[in-house]
Amino acid sequence: MAIQLFVPNFRVEECLAEIRECLEKGWTGLGFKTVEIETAWKEYTQLPHAHFLNSNTVGLHLAFELFKSKFGWNDDDEVITTPLTFVSTNHAILYAGLKPVFADVDDYLCLDPDSVIKRITPRTKALIFVGIGGNSGQYEKILEICRARNIKLVLDAAHMSGTRVGGKHIGNDADVTVFSFQAVKNLPTADSGMICFKEADDDERVRKLTWLGINKDTYARTASQSAYKWMYDVEEVGYKYHGNSIMAAIALVQLKYLDIDNAYRRQLATWYGQNLKDRNNVAVVQTAQGCESAQHLLQIRVQNRDALMIALNEHDIFPGVHYRDNTDYRMYAFAQGTCPNAAGASKEIISLPMHLRMTKSDVDRISELVVKYAQ
Ligand SMILES: *Cc1c(COP(=O)(O)O)cnc(C)c1O
Repeated sequence: MAIQLFVPNFRVEECLAEIRECLEKGWTGLGFKTVEIETAWKEYTQLPHAHFLNSNTVGLHLAFELFKSKFGWNDDDEVITTPLTFVSTNHAILYAGLKPVFADVDDYLCLDPDSVIKRITPRTKALIFVGIGGNSGQYEKILEICRARNIKLVLDAAHMSGTRVGGKHIGNDADVTVFSFQAVKNLPTADSGMICFKEADDDERVRKLTWLGINKDTYARTASQSAYKWMYDVEEVGYKYHGNSIMAAIALVQLKYLDIDNAYRRQLATWYGQNLKDRNNVAVVQTAQGCESAQHLLQIRVQNRDALMIALNEHDIFPGVHYRDNTDYRMYAFAQGTCPNAAGASKEIISLPMHLRMTKSDVDRISELVVKYAQ
């Protein structure tokens, strides 16, 4: 039996029941279930604000755009970022007309505070931290660096739904935290996400920005009846980025199972860790102290990555790579050679299969093959 990297686990009957409610009511768009998931997410994470989106990518774009106009940043002001991420992280900086400045990663594959400090200039306005695989890495140190210099901290928490540090859900101290509920993330829908600002006025503004810049507030207050529904103001050029009730219906069900799903992911990681520890040719990427990771990924490093991938494929096992050093992409080649740790990791990392249909014997079988073929 083939073992894939990711297989989302949907509670099909429960999801269908929630979706059925939308269809029967005749309400599949913005509102209704999108409000319910925002409330449920705030309750789950204890973050003060949450706005449901059609993806994480659009949320990252809005985070930079909103802060840029709010604080009067200029075009090409700088955002410190990581080369080891999905391109959404870095594209979002460019969408807002800002300049990505790549800092290097540490052994957690997250931004390295020492490298970050070296990249700070008078034009540095923000930093985006990616918790790879659910790991918080040296997030606390990065947070201190940003606080001390008034650098806005954007947390790309695409892998961090359910990650806790010191018992608290990640994200409560960032200026904005953006989650992904994309099809293969820990809280899978099909495509959706959540943007959680620290400040209430940012939350209020982002709700307008995700709906073309439309502001219904003034009229909603004065018009008690729906006669004035059409009578809204458009205050700025916004986007069509909000989430819908069908995605929210799925998210509401999946959220109920997020903690037990993540606990099983950590169990899989523990089994991998036991099987692969003290092996000469294999290093398991460690989780930071005090971090209860959502364990989106289980990453290892080996010297013969490409050969090992092929060997595993021949045994019907299909791992992944998270990620290729983004400065190897033509789009970001201007920064090539600036992040040696990321470049090195990019050649060595493999994400082993990690999903809820896997058993201990799957982990044992994969581990045996890794040990056999790693050089
Ligand atoms: C998946 C992912 C995104 C994008 O999420 P979408 O919801 O698909 O837009 C951004 N950053 C990272 C690190 C991701 O893994």
